[in-house]
Amino acid sequence: SGKWVKAMEIVKEFEESCRTPISKLKQVADAMTVEMHAGLASEGGSKLKMLITYVDSLPTGDEKGLFYALDLGGTNFRVLRVLLGGKDGGILKQQFKEVSIPPNKMTGSSAALFDYIAAELANFVAQEEDDFKPTSGRPRELGFTFSFPVMQTSIASGTLLRWTKGFSIDETVGQDVVAELTKALERQGLEMRVSALVSLCYGLLLSTVYDLDILQLTFELDTVNDTVGTLAGGKYANNDVVVSVILGTGSNAAYVERAQAIPKWHGLLPKSGEMVSSLLIAISKLCYLESAVSVGHYYVSNMVYSSSFKFSCIWRILRGSYSILLSNHVSDMGVINMEWGNFRSSHLPLTEYDQALDAESLNPGEQIYEKVISGMYLGEIFRRVLYRMAKEGFFGDIVPPKLKEPFILGTPVMSAMHHDTSPDLKVVANNLKDILEISNTSLKMRKVIVQLCDIIATRGARLSAAGLLGILKKMGRDTIKEGEKQKTVIAMDGGLYEHYEEYRNSLENCLKELLGEEVSKTIKIEHSNDGSGIGAALLAASHSQYL
Ligand code: ADP
Ligand code: MG
Repeated sequence: SGKWVKAMEIVKEFEESCRTPISKLKQVADAMTVEMHAGLASEGGSKLKMLITYVDSLPTGDEKGLFYALDLGGTNFRVLRVLLGGKDGGILKQQFKEVSIPPNKMTGSSAALFDYIAAELANFVAQEEDDFKPTSGRPRELGFTFSFPVMQTSIASGTLLRWTKGFSIDETVGQDVVAELTKALERQGLEMRVSALVSLCYGLLLSTVYDLDILQLTFELDTVNDTVGTLAGGKYANNDVVVSVILGTGSNAAYVERAQAIPKWHGLLPKSGEMVSSLLIAISKLCYLESAVSVGHYYVSNMVYSSSFKFSCIWRILRGSYSILLSNHVSDMGVINMEWGNFRSSHLPLTEYDQALDAESLNPGEQIYEKVISGMYLGEIFRRVLYRMAKEGFFGDIVPPKLKEPFILGTPVMSAMHHDTSPDLKVVANNLKDILEISNTSLKMRKVIVQLCDIIATRGARLSAAGLLGILKKMGRDTIKEGEKQKTVIAMDGGLYEHYEEYRNSLENCLKELLGEEVSKTIKIEHSNDGSGIGAALLAASHSQYL
């Protein structure tokens, strides 16, 4: 009939505008590489923030003891504790609890969100069993995974740049999320002090920090982005891990970069001589100023600093009246949190549905790449195309009212339909009925619906593969160098990657296709299960002051 023809035209046109031939993917990859360079060159130089995380030491496997992590993603947050056995012991034991975030907490106030999280954390801590107790005299330490763009500029702060995914709380933007969390923990009656925060970002240089007051503290906080956590978690399991990608509600990537390749970082480096003398001045001032209260002794050895950031955090610790022992650990690598979700390029195959989704989103114009590849949006793109077809009479004379509801079709449902292997596509039929209240679909219609899932998932998967190729290019790992046996492992995590098999397969096959057979053999993708959570705990451990 005419209606069918019309609907097929819509599908055909949609498919056409979603095409991702290899030539196009290579352009996307090149654009990603170019943006990476630009983002590293200067602050604000690119849509990609390329945030320096100051994580330049990753877990070694020697970490030992009880560590907590709090992982705030997009849909759920997890609290977890791990018991690390030290050398050869690995992760002896772990427990976690997953809590979904009520939608009203995502758009209410900062205090309401952090109170909710802190209450769950307090609850979880209260249920600590005997074999999971912290070493006596040592406070509990917590890695805080906060999967939103955060600029870390000092030891005790990480400022939220903007919310992404389904979050929108204006007052939090510009706030220090660690301070907000800490205040909330205090409101819960958890005794702690945020001034003692050693963000893992800085822990790298302050590899040994003694704090006289710290024994009274309950928690030590570290903040870490989920990609960085995944990188750390992956690295703990496999030392060849140098890239991590999250494909969950949102999407992001982190990788290990040479310090030399981060021009904007070097812009911040004072000459080492200046550094040492200003540090000495600071310490002498401090000793003078604080001698009246005489909280402790300050001693510094082997001063080697390379960044004013590090200086400012040391200064903060000193002002917070802690005694410090500084080691001469200076690293030549840094972990870059790309915030790749905000990537955009004229080469991205965007459709009218993507444009409308973006325009009506909580963050129009932002996170364009994320909006075509990640879990929060795939199902919604699907709904929009179906709705358009419904308006042309695909489901009969009336448009099913449920189809008008934004986000009613989640990506898990879309993936269930996509994976339907029953001959009569029963899963598709049932979901259409249960969620959209559409019954009496023909097999022919259901096949078209599966085809739509395939178009959307394939485009997303192939575009993520292109992004990965961009990173590998930037790292010089997209080719094989003479005489070098270099292995590259990419740690992946997130619900979309984990559960959407078609997507995962499509991504992996596409990456192989892009790299060619020979190079593909040197590159491996590993699923880093809950890497973002455990990784945060590991980073708290590897930057612990008590080990
Ligand atoms: P977050 O990104 O919030 O930290 P996860 O990594 O657990 O959390 O990812 C959750 C997301 O993964 C969901 O929003 C959803 O889009 C996607 N997802 C979860 N289960 C499935 C599934 N079975 N099939 C496809 N996508 C899924
Ligand atoms: Mg997550």
